[in-house]
Amino acid sequence: MWRATLLTLFPEMFPGPLGISLAGRALSSGIWALDARDIRDAAIDKHRSVDDTPAGGGPGMVLRADILASAIDAVPRVPRQPRLLMSPRGRPLTQSRVADLAAGPGPLIVCGRFEGVDQRVIEARQLEEVSIGDYVLSGGEIAAMALLDACVRLLPGVMGKLSSGTDESFSDGLLEYPQYTRPQAFEGREIPDILTSGNHARIEAWRRAEAEALTQARRPDLWAARTAENDVSRSPKNTTKG
Ligand code: SAH
Repeated sequence: MWRATLLTLFPEMFPGPLGISLAGRALSSGIWALDARDIRDAAIDKHRSVDDTPAGGGPGMVLRADILASAIDAVPRVPRQPRLLMSPRGRPLTQSRVADLAAGPGPLIVCGRFEGVDQRVIEARQLEEVSIGDYVLSGGEIAAMALLDACVRLLPGVMGKLSSGTDESFSDGLLEYPQYTRPQAFEGREIPDILTSGNHARIEAWRRAEAEALTQARRPDLWAARTAENDVSRSPKNTTKG
C-alpha cells in the first residue's frame, strides 16, 4: 500500500481535505495510508520545545536539527522511501515528479514552520527540498497536502478506469484543451460545432491544436521546453539504429 508519512507540528490538520472526495474514498478503501506524526513527540525538555532563535540573529524561530532528526529517525524505515522537505527553496514540483512519487512506496514529508529548519538536518538526513511555487506559505502542511493530492489521484484504482490523467495538463508538456458540457447554448455561447460532430479524428485534431495554442500563449516556458525536447529526440545523435 502507498503510504505517506508526515512530520508536522500540526498532525490534527491531516487528513483534512485529503479525507474528502477522490482522495478520501481512496484513503478509506485502503489504496493509500496517511501517517501524520507530531514532531513535538521528539522534544526532550519539559516544555516540549522544538524551535529556537536563529544563529546570527534575525526574526522568527528555526526548527532544531536534533529534534527533527530524532523525529525522522523514529519513523520505521521503508526501502526506497523518498524523504522530502516542503520548502520554498526547493525544486518546483512538476507532474513528472508527482508521477515518480506515485510510482514509489510513498514519501516521508517534513513540514516546516516558522522560519524553516536548521540546515544541518537537511544535509544529515538528505532531505530533498520540494517547492509548490514561488510564494511563501506559513507552513509545509498545505504544501504537503497539495503534493499528496496530486500523487494520490494517480494511484491505480483512484480515478477509475477512465483514462483521465493521460490527456491532462502537463501530461505531455501541454496545457489541456477547453472543456464543454451541457447546455448547448450558455448566455449566447455555443459549444464548438466540431465537438458535437461525432467525428473523433477531427475532435482529436481540434483538441490538440487548442492545447498547443493555449500552451504557446500562456506558458511560453512549457512550450519552449517541449520544443527543445522534441529537437533533441529528433536529432541524429539520439536516434537508435535498427
Ligand atoms: N524563511 C523561509 C520560509 C519559511 S515558511 C524562506 O524564506 O525560505 C515556513 C515553512 O512553510 C517552510 O519551512 C516550508 O515547509 C513551508 N513552505 C512555505 N512556502 C512553501 C512553498 N512555496 N513550497 C513548499 N513549502 C513551503
